[in-house]
Amino acid sequence: MKHKHQIIIVGAGIAGLSAALEAAQAGNDVAVVSKVTPLHSHSVAAQGGTAAALGNMEPDSWEWHFYDTVKGSDFLGDQDAQALFCKEAIETAYFLEHIGVPFSRGENGRILQRHFGGHYSEFGKGPYIKRSCLAADRIGQAILYTLWGQCLRLQVKFYKEFLVTHILLQDEGCSGVIAWDIVRGEMHIFQGKLTLLATGGCARLFKISTNSSINTGDGMGMVLAAGLPLEDMEFIQFHPTGLYPWGFLISEGVRGEGGYLLNQDGERFMKIYAPAKLELAPRDVVSRAIQGEIRAGRGIRGKPYVYLDITHLEDQLIREKLPQIRQMVLKFAGIDPKKQPIPVAPTAHYTMGGIPININCEVLADGKKTIVPRLFAAGECACVSIHGANRLGTNSTMECAVFGRRAGKYMAKIAKKVNFLPLPQGQIKERLGEINTLLNRTPKTSLAEVREALEEGMTKNCGILRDESSLKNQLELIHQLKTAYQEIGLKGMPKEYNLALQEVLELKHMLNLSEAIVRCALARKESRGAHYRNDFPHRDDKNWLKHTLVFIEDEKYKLDYKPVVITRFEPEERQF
Ligand SMILES: Cc1cc2nc3c(=O)[nH]c(=O)nc-3n(C[C@H](O)[C@H](O)[C@H](O)COP(=O)(O)OP(=O)(O)OC[C@H]3O[C@@H](n4cnc5c(N)ncnc54)[C@H](O)[C@@H]3O)c2cc1C
Repeated sequence: MKHKHQIIIVGAGIAGLSAALEAAQAGNDVAVVSKVTPLHSHSVAAQGGTAAALGNMEPDSWEWHFYDTVKGSDFLGDQDAQALFCKEAIETAYFLEHIGVPFSRGENGRILQRHFGGHYSEFGKGPYIKRSCLAADRIGQAILYTLWGQCLRLQVKFYKEFLVTHILLQDEGCSGVIAWDIVRGEMHIFQGKLTLLATGGCARLFKISTNSSINTGDGMGMVLAAGLPLEDMEFIQFHPTGLYPWGFLISEGVRGEGGYLLNQDGERFMKIYAPAKLELAPRDVVSRAIQGEIRAGRGIRGKPYVYLDITHLEDQLIREKLPQIRQMVLKFAGIDPKKQPIPVAPTAHYTMGGIPININCEVLADGKKTIVPRLFAAGECACVSIHGANRLGTNSTMECAVFGRRAGKYMAKIAKKVNFLPLPQGQIKERLGEINTLLNRTPKTSLAEVREALEEGMTKNCGILRDESSLKNQLELIHQLKTAYQEIGLKGMPKEYNLALQEVLELKHMLNLSEAIVRCALARKESRGAHYRNDFPHRDDKNWLKHTLVFIEDEKYKLDYKPVVITRFEPEERQF
């Protein structure tokens, strides 16, 4: 079946819906294609808040936010994009307020803001600052539901439970996407003048992760498969506080409200690792501190976790500002956080790298200046690069809103000037053939076992601490799993609601992305932000102050590099 819309948006998270809203507002016919029902997009899970230097609780400025974002990124972010982001965050927060996002309110009626790690005053020299705009501990749900309602009002067309499998690329640019209708088991072609990828991150490549099973990095995988580059893939964020042993997120908002981290001796160990900023140092610093305590045998009862203690906070504060987290800890761990400390350990959380884009969200064919006509990306799947080597908490939902809106507005302008491209029929036939091969192949290997082995290996060998030997082990494992992948088959299964087919297609991206991450990590012989090499424990600006680009050419992975944009803040030692 064929569908034709001026603008096709793949992904219904905060980035996709922000873009859809702006493009539809400008009078375009917009379709949003999503593999899950839009309100189940992973943005719904965002807890602690969204960053903007509104200064509602105390004086703040976009320039302080800019400095914190640069330093948080371990000087690997591009400062032109970071400055633009911090300025536009303020206007975007008010935009979200005006379209109806139910923010929590202070006594003066203004948007309530709270502390979050890495956000300070006076260019990092002052104390922590309340910059995270909150909606209790459900910021993602508050923003996503509001955007969705607004998109419905503007008659954006939603195609839910459609798995996009390929982007259609030709010399003139992108002409749309191919998608599998998961419910009915049919192939659909979406033809668009312009296409935006807003498909989220890939932290589900790791066994212990805050991400749901849908975050398999499909958009990045499709771009890599199309011979286009990905940027800075070695930088995967490990959030310090996942609920042990599952890895579910316990938001930094908990530490922002005054939670402490304690080792088995009851010591507030962040005093050693970050004497000035303590629990509110950036995530990479806190995660490594927890890992350090665990490795030194100071985990609770010698196990791989520490305590997050909020028993000293008022019960009313916990219930009003952290209700969802309280519920989750009660339900899964059987712990009332007012009475007992919460067991936590680092967990894979966020993809700093992704599809290289410019500030208009145009995808870059060489990762540098040349654009891919008619193809755009925004949100966690993209890399503009705000977060560099380490993202500051609450900067992501805001990045999705700022750059999603920029993409929508820019696409709306271009859509007026261009016509539809003809569809590449040969490519479509070839892609359909690939799916039919899978559906007709007799299985010799278990899909679940390959995925499980990949995720376990990534956590063990390419996690918070890495070295040459662990990364080489992981590369070898990935090669074995790629061979095993060829023996996965789905013969005899129905086409309708065949979730195994979805998982096999996702697994292909997961394998390719894992190899990209490992190769980038192996090549980067330094430690910076979230990428920590035991064998190269220091940052090396002389050789490595540059972005990595990875792409597949003739079935081989290749790496390239490009300089970091520095406009104002020269790299300095990070001390917290
Ligand atoms: C538990 C948790 C808490 C967080 N808390 C915060 C926070 O407090 N503040 C903050 O700033 N950030 C937070 N983050 C990060 C932030 O939520 C995400 O980075 C952000 O929401 C990502 O939004 P997105 O629009 O890029 O993608 P997502 O919301 O992940 O949406 C991706 C969309 O793409 C679709 N999709 C993917 N692949 C396909 C395909 N092949 N075919 C069709 N559709 C596809 C999905 O269906 C979905 O609609 C948190 C993250 C997690 C995991």
